[in-house]
Formats: sequence, structure tokens, C-alpha cells
Amino acid sequence: MIIKQQKMWRWAATCALTLSALSVTQIGIAQDAKTKLTGKTIGTDGSYQDGGADKTKAFDGDTATFFDAPEATNGNGVWVGLDLGEGKDATIAKIRFYPRTDFPARMVNGKFQGSDTADFSKNVVDLFTVDTEPTADQWTETTKIGSDKKFRYVRYLAPDDGWGNVSEIELFTK
Ligand code: CA
Repeated sequence: MIIKQQKMWRWAATCALTLSALSVTQIGIAQDAKTKLTGKTIGTDGSYQDGGADKTKAFDGDTATFFDAPEATNGNGVWVGLDLGEGKDATIAKIRFYPRTDFPARMVNGKFQGSDTADFSKNVVDLFTVDTEPTADQWTETTKIGSDKKFRYVRYLAPDDGWGNVSEIELFTK
């Protein structure tokens, strides 16, 4: 009987873990946005203490790795994004992101933006602002996108003191 109970508990624990792994915070109504965008990673160069946590870590498909900007930035004005390529401008229909474990608050007031300039010096449009702290250790996804214009350059601009911290970003078009 005791063994049977232990098995039940183990089964329940497995179910709970599976559910937590699948949970996603959804903002907005799900749309048909299945095409994941790819491109060249652009943004602030370098990594904290040259530890290798550079901008490419926001697009390496691994939620355990994250972008962590170099000390010279003081954690301010840091960004990471994608150049979708010449002639590959796209409307952003869905954004997914996964905060750095232990530091989800570093994304509050961060902005996803689109532009037609590689350095975002002009024609910058806000697509989504992270206005609440994202849930730790899970994906947040939104279809509440501020513009349906097409952009070649899309980025995540971290808030000041955010150090660019984000573990993973995924952008989708319709
Ligand atoms: Ca990563």
C-alpha cells in the first residue's frame, strides 16, 4: 500500500512538472502567426566580464543562456534584435520571450521595436512594451502588436539597468 502511494505521488509530481514546463503567459488573442522569423543577430556588442553571454544568446534556442551586456554600458540602452535581410521585411504578428532566470524584473519597461534603419536611429515604431514583470522560468507571448507595418529590423530594447537580460526571443509573422 505504501509503495502504491509513493507511485501515485511520483506520478502526480511528474504531471505537475510537465504542466509547469508547458505554461505560457499569453497576452492578446491567439492569431495565425506560425512563421518564425530568422535573420542576423544585431545589437549591443560584448558581454558582461567578457563571459560570453553576448547578444547571440538571445537567439540560440536555449532558455538557459541569456544576453548580459558588458560593464561599459552600465546596463543602460542595451538592445538585441534581428536583421531579417534585404527584401525580407515582415509584419510582426507574435512575439515570444523568456526572461533571464532570477532576473525577470530586468525586462520591465523593455520595448520591442521595429525600424527601417539598422541602428534604430530613425523611423522607430514600438511594437510591444513589457509593462509587468514577466513570470520567471516560462515563456510570455503576445499578439498585441502595436503596428502591422513591415520591418526589416526588429529589436528588444532593454530598460535602463536591464543589462539587456533576456534568455530567448522569438518573432513570428502571419
Ligand atoms: Ca538563450
